[in-house]
Amino acid sequence: MEKAENTLKLEIPTEIAKVAETLENKGFEAYLIGGCVRDLLIGRKPKDWDITTNATPEQITASFPNTFYENEYGTVGVVNDGVEDTTLKVVEVTPYRLEGGYTDKRRPDSVTWSSKLEDDLKRRDFTINAIALTLAGTIVDRFDGRIDLKKKTIRTVGEPEARFSEDALRILRAVRIAMELDFTIDPATQSAIALNARHLKEIAGERIREEFIRIVMSPRPHIGLILCNKLGILKQVLPELEEGIGVAQNKAHSFDVFEHILRTVEHSAKKDFTLETRLAALFHDIGKPATRRWSEEKKDWTFYGHDMVGAKMAAKIMTRMAFPKKMIETVTTLVRWHMFFSDTEQITHSAVRRIVNRVGKEHIWHLMDVRTCDRIGTGRPKESPYRLRKYHSMVDEVMRDPLSVGMLKINGGRIIELTQTPPGPKIGYTLHALLEEVLDDPARNTEEYLEKRAKELVSLPEKELEQIGKKGKEMKEKEEEKTLSEIRKKHWVK
Ligand code: ATP
Ligand code: MG
Repeated sequence: MEKAENTLKLEIPTEIAKVAETLENKGFEAYLIGGCVRDLLIGRKPKDWDITTNATPEQITASFPNTFYENEYGTVGVVNDGVEDTTLKVVEVTPYRLEGGYTDKRRPDSVTWSSKLEDDLKRRDFTINAIALTLAGTIVDRFDGRIDLKKKTIRTVGEPEARFSEDALRILRAVRIAMELDFTIDPATQSAIALNARHLKEIAGERIREEFIRIVMSPRPHIGLILCNKLGILKQVLPELEEGIGVAQNKAHSFDVFEHILRTVEHSAKKDFTLETRLAALFHDIGKPATRRWSEEKKDWTFYGHDMVGAKMAAKIMTRMAFPKKMIETVTTLVRWHMFFSDTEQITHSAVRRIVNRVGKEHIWHLMDVRTCDRIGTGRPKESPYRLRKYHSMVDEVMRDPLSVGMLKINGGRIIELTQTPPGPKIGYTLHALLEEVLDDPARNTEEYLEKRAKELVSLPEKELEQIGKKGKEMKEKEEEKTLSEIRKKHWVK
């Protein structure tokens, strides 16, 4: 048993405590370890819980009713049945590990179990992630992780050079954790990152993706990207973004392409936008360096087609990182249409409808969000907020389901068949008369009711039916006007 260095009472959820307790009751050691201890110490809600123990995978598996064990690292997933909170559902229990060499810079050549906690702490990435805690509150902190937590510093356990050359993914983990926690990376650790960044090329796209997503979803992705550039990481994982450094834009922009993109992404994080929106913000102008041409006529730079080229580049980048197909489609569509024409003085509803059809109803508001970020990212928004609100109102206007006889549970053909009336104006009158009734009381929109009423209406004298029909049509138009003005009011536009 490790010597207690300190004791502390921390809030450990009962579901997690039970797992550790079960192991202890069987005579094993059990320590909470890694991100969960780090987060507990700084008052953050852990994303997941890890326990390390001197029990073997077989002994762990035998200690719990519901477990899974499908990897070569000894990690046993202990399932807490019937627990709602997804962060508590599965507790990862891993034996103390001792790692062999890392010839491929990705994966240890061999993993063996150890009986000493110390061995396990040594193989962990950063000091703040190498603090162990027992249920009784005993803390084992061999690498002064708590001091680094206080200093808000990320520092490798052991010699930084060696640790990054073993596993280059740790490079991205350092940046990711720094961005999530608002920490800085220790200078020696930074130097080692710069020296080893090229090894990121050897890391599988999906492992990169997971850390990359978390940098993008952190509160400060723009700072993360600047750090990635400074440490030579960007060149390895996102060289397309680096291309924008120093690429001046046209007169409408005060920033180069890179800075504009960073500011656009910064705003997407500030607004807490979705991953798709943030990625579209990041990639929206990625096609600019490749499409930049000098126009003698305009005496300025142009970027024709950067939206199309950018969409292709975004797809390539996301494919490289093994993003799911659906997400690639969404992001590339947003990039493709981010230049949509939005001068509401000149635009028609049908142009807006075309854009809605192109990006789809489910993503149209993401496109509006991308535009908002793009606008803020220029530093001096050229679009007036009124115009933007007006555009948003037009989007809502074209997206509503219009009131029409098409919403009735009966159609002209059915009325003709039912009443043996020849096609003609009478059918239209009947439909509008029915629409009025349904607008009055939506519960009437049933086949049964409408068929019965259609028969009665058709048998009225033509003049009378015409009157009722016209009244129905007027009512529909009034209702339409009312809905539209409500939408405009909601967006504060006329
Ligand atoms: P979070 O749970 O917020 O993602 P975390 O630090 O817990 O952060 P996990 O991926 O859950 O990250 O990993 C749990 C622990 O495993 C880490 O805290 C660290 O101690 C160790 N670890 C994870 N990945 C590595 C790695 N590549 N090299 C060394 N140790 C690692
Ligand atoms: Mg974790």
